[in-house]
Amino acid sequence: MKWEKGELLYEGKAKRVFATQEPDYLIAEFKDSLTAFNGAMKAQLNHKGEWNNQISAHLMGVLEGCGIGTHFVELISPREQVVKRLEMIPVEFICRNAVAGSLAKRTGISEGTPLPTPVIEFNYKNDEMNDPLYVEDLIVALGIASREEIARIRTQGLKVNDCLGKFMDERGIQLVDFKLEFGRFHDELLVGDEVTPDTCRFWDKKDQSKLDKDRFRRKLGNVAEAYQQILDRVST
Ligand code: ADP
Ligand code: UDP
Repeated sequence: MKWEKGELLYEGKAKRVFATQEPDYLIAEFKDSLTAFNGAMKAQLNHKGEWNNQISAHLMGVLEGCGIGTHFVELISPREQVVKRLEMIPVEFICRNAVAGSLAKRTGISEGTPLPTPVIEFNYKNDEMNDPLYVEDLIVALGIASREEIARIRTQGLKVNDCLGKFMDERGIQLVDFKLEFGRFHDELLVGDEVTPDTCRFWDKKDQSKLDKDRFRRKLGNVAEAYQQILDRVST
């Protein structure tokens, strides 16, 4: 299929989304911008869009291999991929295998402490409100997603944790936590958006060094090297 890039439908912090000649398909273009704290901290990182485009393509392929439906269709250029057009559910599914980030702040437990079983959280995706943590009953009560959809997101999200956790572990990387977004595609519920070092915490198993967006958030340096390292390891 020769994909035609149509109208710009949405520009977010990390991607631009375009229509194609097929109503069920979109082109996602990954940008070089890096943002944190809901856009309060911003920078450009040359080639980051290309690295994330390829990393997400690889990892969505890994998920498909585990029987998990995703929006990914094909890469069409270094920073563009075709995806299925989903009706996005404005909920961030977060899954944690160890304490880090906002959970360390909320609990006072030190970063890196393993969690005996994965911990799932839901954030309501709303920039103005800073993506607040919502309990499942509230998501259902407000009609953001149905009880059945939340149950399915949980099951699929935990499957992603097993599949991606194992894949990264084999490549010397600990999957500390990650965020997923899901959307409706006809009668399916698919993983959308991206799976990249912007949305996952990846720690090197040999020395616990961070290979993800925390290098930017916490001004640790070597951000480009970390993203390239992830691309290298997921490509082998
Ligand atoms: P943000 O909106 O958080 O700044 P991005 O820059 O990554 O994030 O923008 C991408 C937007 O496209 C997000 O709002 C995301 O929910 C949406 N999106 C991701 N995948 C799909 C898809 N397959 N179909 C429709 N919308 C999608
Ligand atoms: N995350 C994300 N987008 C968000 C919030 C969180 O991709 O808007 C990811 C984040 O990269 C981490 C996980 O979800 O892998 C858990 O994030 P946390 O709640 O600890 O928040 P943070 O420390 O990122 O503010």
